[in-house]
Amino acid sequence: MKDCIFCSIVNEADKHVWENDVAVAIKDLYPRAKVHVLLMPRQHIRNLDHLEDAELAGKLLISVREVAQQLHLKDNWRLRVNNGQSVGQTVDHLHFHI
Ligand code: AMP
Ligand code: ZN
Repeated sequence: MKDCIFCSIVNEADKHVWENDVAVAIKDLYPRAKVHVLLMPRQHIRNLDHLEDAELAGKLLISVREVAQQLHLKDNWRLRVNNGQSVGQTVDHLHFHI
């Protein structure tokens, strides 16, 4: 998607701290935790309201867990999704805060 910062980042492999066939993870530019990573689908999906593909949804959730494991967060991590501008979604490309 043109003019989407995260679509651009999907194509900037040097920024990825983790990736697979459906998603990439990057460090949050303004971390609000000791470890703050964003996982996003390669495909432009606005937010969870626009995620229709159940197989992709499952892969994304497993990807979140794999990122947490790779970061050695063990059983001490939180997952957050801001779904919609009024609750703080500032980038209109689905992403999971880990
Ligand atoms: P949200 O407010 O849920 O949409 O989250 C967007 C997140 O993306 C925020 O935590 C920002 O700090 C982060 N962010 C925005 N632009 C960039 C960027 N270019 N690289 C990495 N993180 C970014
Ligand atoms: Zn996008």
